[in-house]
Amino acid sequence: MSFRGHTVEPSAGSTATLEDARSHLFNDRTVERYRESLRAGVETVAAKVSTTTRPFTGTTPDRLAPEISGIDLDRPLGDLAEALAELEDVYLRDAVYFHHPRYLAHLNCPVVIPALLGEAVLTAVNSSLDTWDQSAGGTLIERRLIDWTAERIGLGPDADGVFTSGGTQSNLQALLLAREEACTALAAAADTPPAKHELLPQLRIIASEASHFSVKKSAKLLGLGMDAVISVETDRGRRMKPEALARELARCTAEGLTVMAVVATAGTTDFGSIDPLPEIAGLCAAAGVWMHVDAAYGCGLLVSPTRRHLLDGIERADSVTVDYHKSFFQPVSSSAVLVRDGAVLRHATYHADYLNPARMAERRIPNQVDKSIQTTRRFDALKLWLTLRTMGAEAVGLLFDEVVDRAAAAWEMLTEDPRFEVVTKSQLSTVVFRWLPPAGPARDLADEANLYAREALAASGEAVVAGTKVDGRHHLKFTLLNPETTVDDIAHVLDLLAEHAGRYVNDRAAVAPELCPTAV
Ligand SMILES: *Cc1c(COP(=O)(O)O)cnc(C)c1O
Repeated sequence: MSFRGHTVEPSAGSTATLEDARSHLFNDRTVERYRESLRAGVETVAAKVSTTTRPFTGTTPDRLAPEISGIDLDRPLGDLAEALAELEDVYLRDAVYFHHPRYLAHLNCPVVIPALLGEAVLTAVNSSLDTWDQSAGGTLIERRLIDWTAERIGLGPDADGVFTSGGTQSNLQALLLAREEACTALAAAADTPPAKHELLPQLRIIASEASHFSVKKSAKLLGLGMDAVISVETDRGRRMKPEALARELARCTAEGLTVMAVVATAGTTDFGSIDPLPEIAGLCAAAGVWMHVDAAYGCGLLVSPTRRHLLDGIERADSVTVDYHKSFFQPVSSSAVLVRDGAVLRHATYHADYLNPARMAERRIPNQVDKSIQTTRRFDALKLWLTLRTMGAEAVGLLFDEVVDRAAAAWEMLTEDPRFEVVTKSQLSTVVFRWLPPAGPARDLADEANLYAREALAASGEAVVAGTKVDGRHHLKFTLLNPETTVDDIAHVLDLLAEHAGRYVNDRAAVAPELCPTAV
């Protein structure tokens, strides 16, 4: 037998029996197996985490791929203990560990234990939050958390929203709602309402040059094309310049274009900068334009005991993206989109006879699918619920404050270190910097040396840092989300980076001495 080029052995030697298969189903007769299996899994992870000395082994796709492709998925091991042992080789050994204090790269956080428990509970019960008849209390818990978040933002009495898979999806849904509102308004203003597809080419989205790429992807998915996103300048702090926004708004009006949304970023992914929300809100209100705030990263400030004011102005948004899986220390995935006027969520509503017929809405049966672009949907809200009920919002805020403080300390450290050059100080927890080669011709090697240092560091597994480009030049980046990361950890990582970068320049100079006379 052949399937897509693979030869499939008939299952002649198979020992599977229905009875055995049924013993794996989770139900009242198998709770003991459930207990034992989860305990074994928990023990495996606990043992791993307690003995992990590096954030990463430094493995490469080439080295790891054969381990995984070598597994015959048509020959089960038949035993959980063996499957767990195998997992060590295919996953756990080489996984990237975000709890490790020298993981300083992307916006992935260490996670809090109540949320891990939530994850275990929600997958066992396996509620699906599309309809009340598949979730019951789950729906009400999610709604309560949406209300709680909207209150923290200050969106007012008509606010609503829904949990999503992540900031990308939250941004997409917010912009979908904005597009529908803009099209509705344009159609209402026309003598003969044009067809929707005739309106799309005139729609624009304005975001800063430091905004997240998911804004462009959303534009593409929404039928506008990436070109429909107008990028406005930022100031030295990488915050949107209000005067540049005002200029673009005026230019669009003059050219007969319709701005369907302005996206303000509250915590840019690279720089942790927060756009001037009050000024942007004022300009949006004056122009009658939808204001979306992408607070995927900065949402942790909503619970910060000392820095909530950095989000002032967010309460004037029409929609907001929050990623609990970034600054609320929640496991992936956990995000939400919030809107000031819950009625706009109708643009995501479709009544399917088999699932959520209109008569259910009339009877006020709370079907979350009416508000979501997903159908079957995880009960991710339970993780946040157990987090708030166990440790509380303020404890989460303390953790986030701690990493923001640490980033400020790292920035200070870098400004005083002649080996490095540091870019703008973050309002959140990123630090963007680069190693500087010795003055002279070797300066030209800065880009390569920084790229090399980052890769060599990851390959050593000693630490993981990120990279990005600033004004066309390669930089290194810390995204600090682990309160356990100490100033000493950061100093150590800087030494390692300087060592790798220095070695690169010296090696280059050895073959081309004119590049770097001082380094040889
Ligand atoms: C991470 C991020 C996103 C995307 O969120 P995901 O959860 O990764 O989909 C959007 N906007 C900003 C500002 C982000 O930092």
